[in-house]
Amino acid sequence: MLPGEFIGTEEEYLEGNGTYLEEGKLYAAVAGDLHVDSKHRATIIAKDKIPDMRVGATVYGKVDEVFESKAFVTLEFSEISRKKKTIKMQGIIQVSEIKNEYVRVLRDELKVGDIIKGKVIDITPFNVIISFKNRGLGVIKAFCSRCRHEMSLKGSILECGNCGNKENRTLGFPYGNV
Ligand SMILES: [Zn+2]
Repeated sequence: MLPGEFIGTEEEYLEGNGTYLEEGKLYAAVAGDLHVDSKHRATIIAKDKIPDMRVGATVYGKVDEVFESKAFVTLEFSEISRKKKTIKMQGIIQVSEIKNEYVRVLRDELKVGDIIKGKVIDITPFNVIISFKNRGLGVIKAFCSRCRHEMSLKGSILECGNCGNKENRTLGFPYGNV
């Protein structure tokens, strides 16, 4: 897409990074590839490079969906050389990138709504591929799957202060400090 190119109407798409809305119509604000996510948000990803993003960067985001073999995350911050930048892009974590041991059920390691800290291992035109396979990476804030209350860390187990539910996650560090 080229800057100013018509993408669609606001009935069809939500305004994402690299786009702008004018009189109900969505246009490309920058040159790049159009990407539309599962929630119909249109994003233009610049062809040459993605700003504030590189392999090796630490990223923070919120889990949108968890499938059997991968989870989708909306990345909200990148951290490169200790500089934290606000971003908005889609990240994917494969079940094989959760930990070195075999993961049987991905939903036991992270759940929708959780806040995660990951490391970028690859960047494709449409996604940032992240991994938890490093010290301190994983879920840094979890929400109870029964009542959505924030969970507190008791030893190595997460406990809901509201309903008493106990759950596991692949935990990152520091937990709860988000
Ligand atoms: Zn609860």
